[in-house]
Amino acid sequence: MSSVVTFTNGDGIGPEIMGATRRVLDAAGASITWQEVKMGEAVYRSGISSGIDPSSWDILRKTRVLLKAPITTPQGGGVKSLNVTLRKSLGLFANVRPCMALAPYVPTKHPGMNLVIIRENEEDLYAGIEHQQTDEVVQCLKLITRPGSERVIRYAFEYARSKGRRRVTCLTKDNIMKLTDGLFHRVFDEVGAEYPQIEKEHLIVDIGTARVAVAPERFDVLVLPNLYGDILSDVAAEAAGSVGMVGSANIGEHGAMFEAIHGSAPDIAGKGIANPSGLLNAATMLLRHIGQGDVAARIQNAWLCTLEDGIHTNDIATPQHTLERVGTEAFADAIIARLGKVPQRLMRAHQGEANLPPVPPRTAPRPRARKELIGVDVFLHWDEQGRSPQELAARLRPLTDANLVMIMITNRGVKVWPDGLPETFCTDHWRVRFQAQEPITTAQILGLLQRIAEAGLDFVKTEHLYLFDGKPGFSLGQGQ
Ligand code: NAD
Repeated sequence: MSSVVTFTNGDGIGPEIMGATRRVLDAAGASITWQEVKMGEAVYRSGISSGIDPSSWDILRKTRVLLKAPITTPQGGGVKSLNVTLRKSLGLFANVRPCMALAPYVPTKHPGMNLVIIRENEEDLYAGIEHQQTDEVVQCLKLITRPGSERVIRYAFEYARSKGRRRVTCLTKDNIMKLTDGLFHRVFDEVGAEYPQIEKEHLIVDIGTARVAVAPERFDVLVLPNLYGDILSDVAAEAAGSVGMVGSANIGEHGAMFEAIHGSAPDIAGKGIANPSGLLNAATMLLRHIGQGDVAARIQNAWLCTLEDGIHTNDIATPQHTLERVGTEAFADAIIARLGKVPQRLMRAHQGEANLPPVPPRTAPRPRARKELIGVDVFLHWDEQGRSPQELAARLRPLTDANLVMIMITNRGVKVWPDGLPETFCTDHWRVRFQAQEPITTAQILGLLQRIAEAGLDFVKTEHLYLFDGKPGFSLGQGQ
């Protein structure tokens, strides 16, 4: 039965690679009724800041499957990243990115590489909550949630189990971000315990990324928070051969979106030389998702034959293995001419092998913890008296009360009072911690803020300090 699939041509090289990809799918006998929606630069230019026409949402909600070419995100303020909006609005929580070497036909230093990155897709710094708070300081909120982490990590383990993969590696920076990345790591340990047959490994993201760059063959499935996953995917794709080769599936409960991992490549747009493989690989994941795994395997095998026959686009061409250097259209023609053939040396694709696992159900929320308010961090915009922390402390001290004691002032997270170093550079953005021995009320905090405002000090934000079941739900100070 024919499936209705929404597609969008995208920007830059988007229309070129989408045209080539759809031609291959149609020639391979994919049973798809294509429905186009407009997204991207033209929509942004028409004044719609989301980059997607409101009527397109209804179509997407109905078809639930989108093949998306890359979109150019306009620089500067006032517009939102369409990619991020699509992933979040449609609840596409997992981004699956297989990166496999195709040596010797695609040049790589890592012929044994065959890893899959599963990137959390909705949270982290991509929540897009940014504020300017003072003349000198802007901030971006990093949000990591337990349900979001649980879901993507479980999906990574389910993916590993369903594919017979042996190990799942988690990368975080929880030595620095103990609460946010710490939660992701902790959930990885908890969920991982339910999969005793699969090896678990956690690495700090910096050394983990370095190891993926120099020895990707030692990795199997990787699961990462959003930003690290974004960066690591390009590292891994380039290590495998080219960023132009890798496709991705954005998976959610209510739909799925398939796209290349690369962007709109404005530097080569309109030249007809882009590699359509990333989008084509994404399209084969789409075909498997809609139950047309046989067509997906036909396409993948023809694509592998094309690579074996030395017909290559610019980005993967080498003197040793390239017989014909071709553009986007000729590459698609070569794949179409090989439909029905199977590769001789590269691993052959099969109908059911690459199907994605089902979306795991959400786990029930945990019982609420006992939550006690024990203080507040007050952020101030203050630029007077030579920015002396001692002077600021002297202005604030009379405003505290016996129950809510000023215990610390930091600047960019570095403690500057008490016992700060005179060498520490201070901006106009200060965090002042007021803490109590016993639980307090929000009224006490409001009273404190009232006094701060009446003293002519500009508070720009507050964060409450809570204990959750007796444990601090806040970082304790600088550089811990
Ligand atoms: P890019 O991925 O577009 O390009 C990086 C480099 O890789 C360029 O040299 C480019 O020529 C090359 N390249 C990319 N795809 C290729 C292909 N298929 N064949 C051959 N070479 C290819 O990254 P960028 O230049 O940083 O971003 C350009 C625009 O794309 C930006 O506006 C960015 O926001 C957007 N972007 C969109 C997506 C998406 O739609 N999912 C993803 C990443 C970036």
